Amino acid sequence: MTTLRIYPIPAFRDNYIWIIHNTTSATVIDPGDAHPVLDYLQSNKLQLESILITHHHSDHTGGNGMLLDRFDVPVYGPIHETIPTVTHPLQGGDTVHLPLLSLSLAVIDVPGHTSGHIAYFGSLPGPEKKNILFCGDTLFACGCGRLFEGTPLQMYQSLQKLTDLPEDTLVYCTHEYTLSNISFARTVEPSNSDLQQFEHHANQLRNRNQATIPTNIATEKNCNPFLRCNQSEIIKMASQYAGKKLSEPLDIFIALREWKNNF
Ligand SMILES: [Zn+2]
Repeated sequence: MTTLRIYPIPAFRDNYIWIIHNTTSATVIDPGDAHPVLDYLQSNKLQLESILITHHHSDHTGGNGMLLDRFDVPVYGPIHETIPTVTHPLQGGDTVHLPLLSLSLAVIDVPGHTSGHIAYFGSLPGPEKKNILFCGDTLFACGCGRLFEGTPLQMYQSLQKLTDLPEDTLVYCTHEYTLSNISFARTVEPSNSDLQQFEHHANQLRNRNQATIPTNIATEKNCNPFLRCNQSEIIKMASQYAGKKLSEPLDIFIALREWKNNF
């Protein structure tokens, strides 16, 4: 069995369009721009098999039309959002089968950033069976997406679902926000030594112009303040920011999200 490659195609200022492929076929996730995807397909002599969409924002869907002009492929996307090019609407509990890649992905509902946002989780074929997650703008390395449509509770619960995945799961999010997220995280939890190590690692990657993504669930549990709302230092700092004593994890999460919006 040929191994699958997962590659970040840079787009716009800081987006990654993820492509999964073997030597002949490819699936692309959240193609906001068709041009860099077409370039990648052409230079690697790949046929597009399908398009997966996590949510309706144009920097995740804008390339669909041009890709569909070239390739007659299914477009999978969230059932609870209006995306005209989606041919196969999905919701949590569904499974996407990608036969040319020998890959199946389970769909998880993760509302919050948008109201119908979905994520895709699966295991790569082959002896290693690496777990992979494509989560769009929900969970970022050391951060989370802004709440454009959903409620804080929805986002909090969506992030909980993702942290319940196996700790070795590789997390393929769609923006290179890591260093600025770490800068906020260090302000919120200055004594977290795992976070300091992760910053060192991320700086090294960025100095070589490499993506800091994928991250993984274990690292996020150790470093991401939005997943650490029960940590005493974060509770103290969030309470200081809010100007009142907070104790409920959801209230901590709300304070952190507001603080980050203004950071
Ligand atoms: Zn978005």
